[in-house]
Amino acid sequence: MRTTGIIRPVDKNGRVVIPMDLRKQLNVENEVDSFEIFTEDDKIILKKYEPSCIFCGEAGDTLKLKGHNVCLDCIDRLQKIKNTINE
Ligand SMILES: [Zn+2]
Repeated sequence: MRTTGIIRPVDKNGRVVIPMDLRKQLNVENEVDSFEIFTEDDKIILKKYEPSCIFCGEAGDTLKLKGHNVCLDCIDRLQKIKNTINE
């Protein structure tokens, strides 16, 4: 983890503005994108939210299956497993 040297105040509602330069760098679009929030010891880590596969955790091309994201690779794997069952 590297420092940006940027310090931002927390407002009365607990909000912190993420600097525009950082939002541009991560292609974060206002009122469209979301952040996933992680904690580690005394750190709060924000990661641009990209729906990831429930099986492998990859966040590339995913499809929704009964409310869960599944990547195309895992769909192929499931298809191969299904084919072995049908043999
Ligand atoms: Zn997957």
